Amino acid sequence: MSQEALVAIVVAVALIVGPLATLRALSKRAAAQTPQRPAPLESNIEAELLAQLPVLAHLTPELRQRHVERVRAFLASKRFIGCDGLEVTKEMKLVVAGLACLLVLRPDAELFPAVKAVLLYPGAFLVPVNEPDEFGLVDDEPQERIGESWQGDRVILSWEDVQAALAGDGVNVVAHEFAHQLDDESPFEGAPHLPREFNGYERWSRVMQREFERLQRHRRPPVLDPYGAESPAEFFGVATEAFIQRGADLAQHHAELYELLRDYYGFDTRDWAWSA
Ligand SMILES: [Zn+2]
Repeated sequence: MSQEALVAIVVAVALIVGPLATLRALSKRAAAQTPQRPAPLESNIEAELLAQLPVLAHLTPELRQRHVERVRAFLASKRFIGCDGLEVTKEMKLVVAGLACLLVLRPDAELFPAVKAVLLYPGAFLVPVNEPDEFGLVDDEPQERIGESWQGDRVILSWEDVQAALAGDGVNVVAHEFAHQLDDESPFEGAPHLPREFNGYERWSRVMQREFERLQRHRRPPVLDPYGAESPAEFFGVATEAFIQRGADLAQHHAELYELLRDYYGFDTRDWAWSA
């Protein structure tokens, strides 16, 4: 698209959005005059987050503060939708937001701008498969999934598997699917937008490529889920899960990968223990 066309669109959008934004601001102010009871979620959010995610105690006070702010913003900006009869509770929202926001603790991080909604299923869910396999055939049988990340607007999760992560399972479906969102925000598959201190993608590509190929060769990898061998995007998802769920093991067996993710996410997970 030419620069002129882009400017024309931006101006057109500004003309349309301008009055709408004013209207919204007005109605918000009017609403603020009506006294409202403070939401209990707001008041205890820090303590409740710590109760649900005790690993947060390992973060520095500055990062914990930022985490709480991100979680608040996440809850205020993303819709939660219960599927298959699941009634989404305050606790579920807090846990999902709490886990997702671990991935955006860098000072410059954006809060998954593409994600408008989080769909929660009670457990694994079935999805029809539309993509042809290597023979060009489309399977009639729906496939079971525990999570999906849509490039457009949503992340879909199995609550049962979210809980498994809290109990120390190596799979963390929230970390996995939201890592896909970070990946989708950048132009490169298997990599997020890197902060300035990385000075480009050289280090990222070197470490990720080598570890990806290593996982493809390995029959029984000690730490990383073999599913990560499917593609660079899945590798980033799986590596992020291992960083969050099994930091000490990742640091021991894949030191450079651990350090890369530590430098990107901005905190250490070596001392984290999930299981009660
Ligand atoms: Zn995936």
